[in-house]
Amino acid sequence: MKANCILLRYGELALKGKNKKEFENRLVKNIREKLKQFPGCEVTRVHGRIFVELKEHHSEPVMEACSEVFGLVGISPAIRTEKDWEKIKQAALAITEEQGERIQTFKVNSKRADKKFPIRSLEMNHRLGGFLLGKLSHLRVDVHHPDMTLSVEVRSTHAYVYGNSLPGLGGLPVGVSGRVMLLLSGGIDSPVAGYLALKRGAELQAVHFHSFPFTSERAKQKVIDLARILTRFGGHIRLHVVPFTDIQTEINRHCYESYTITVMRRIMVRIAERIADRNKALALVTGESLGQVASQTLESMRTINAVTTMPILRPLIGMDKQEIMDISKRINTYETSILPYEDCCTVFLPKAPKTRPDREVAERLEARLDLERLIQEAVDGTEVIDLRPEQEEEFSCF
Ligand code: ATP
Ligand code: MG
Repeated sequence: MKANCILLRYGELALKGKNKKEFENRLVKNIREKLKQFPGCEVTRVHGRIFVELKEHHSEPVMEACSEVFGLVGISPAIRTEKDWEKIKQAALAITEEQGERIQTFKVNSKRADKKFPIRSLEMNHRLGGFLLGKLSHLRVDVHHPDMTLSVEVRSTHAYVYGNSLPGLGGLPVGVSGRVMLLLSGGIDSPVAGYLALKRGAELQAVHFHSFPFTSERAKQKVIDLARILTRFGGHIRLHVVPFTDIQTEINRHCYESYTITVMRRIMVRIAERIADRNKALALVTGESLGQVASQTLESMRTINAVTTMPILRPLIGMDKQEIMDISKRINTYETSILPYEDCCTVFLPKAPKTRPDREVAERLEARLDLERLIQEAVDGTEVIDLRPEQEEEFSCF
């Protein structure tokens, strides 16, 4: 006997009423989407849990896929069997045996939801405990700190037997919090910021400012690759690549060097806001942290924020660089982020960027630019790339 289904648990602590329904429906939809790569796998929700029927698939790859779905807190391989005592015993033995010597102590936790089943929960605990001790001589019972809790649930149609669960990612199912627009550079921070927005249930689109030929095609490919990695957690991600060369050239021609970064960021935000509006995104997300570089001061953020009424979310604001790097390694964006292709910000990095840029100075400098035309041309020239997990990118233009 081996695992024929997977039991998924979700946290519903803060969920009430309508939110709960939406959370559950979206979660099931996201899991189904994720498991499309395993044809035949069936996803059903029963009594506050989700079951995945494995059919002919192995449990490990399906569990791994589930471990990339936000909203799940526990993932366990399980055996679904008829409500027959002999079969339940064999399932318990199979689940425990599969753990081998990794577990030395265990306890049994039975639940009899179907009161017609003739053996009571406590009695099941005792009988199964005794049975397993007789079969596997290395095992001991420890009811306080067991290496494994063997759970048995007898429900109306079937019984379920399962062991310890792997932790899920937590968070909220992607899509329950509305859509956001991530400003995605090729660096370490912004992909992590996107991941954290996804974690809070936001659906992600991304915008990248590309300054060809100052920055190469490979720099653009790097951003596509990063967005694609995020699709593992976020499903479909639409990436908008904005031609930024003319704007950067104009900024460098007309602005003091110390203000180029500030003006550039303010224009990025204006363009991102327009693209967000067109795509029904409700907020922008950046990878900024506080005090990390000269351009990430509160004064600078205030001067940049002034050009939009849209919220700018900065999920990394409370994090140290090391914490950000740890996440980026865990989600697999780190290796791509550190590839050495230049970004538009590094190409034009001023020797001494203004750490406390003044809003009025920025406005005065921007008055020297044909701002509206530049922004409109950039928006019109934006390339749209639709990214889906395990699929070639689809390119299109507005
Ligand atoms: P990252 O590691 O995300 O590049 P960073 O530490 O290099 O961040 P900055 O260069 O100051 O910080 O950029 C701050 C934020 O501005 C980035 O996190 C990103 O959200 C946005 N940004 C910067 N350059 C671009 C770009 N070319 N396209 C889109 N967004 C950008
Ligand atoms: Mg950067």
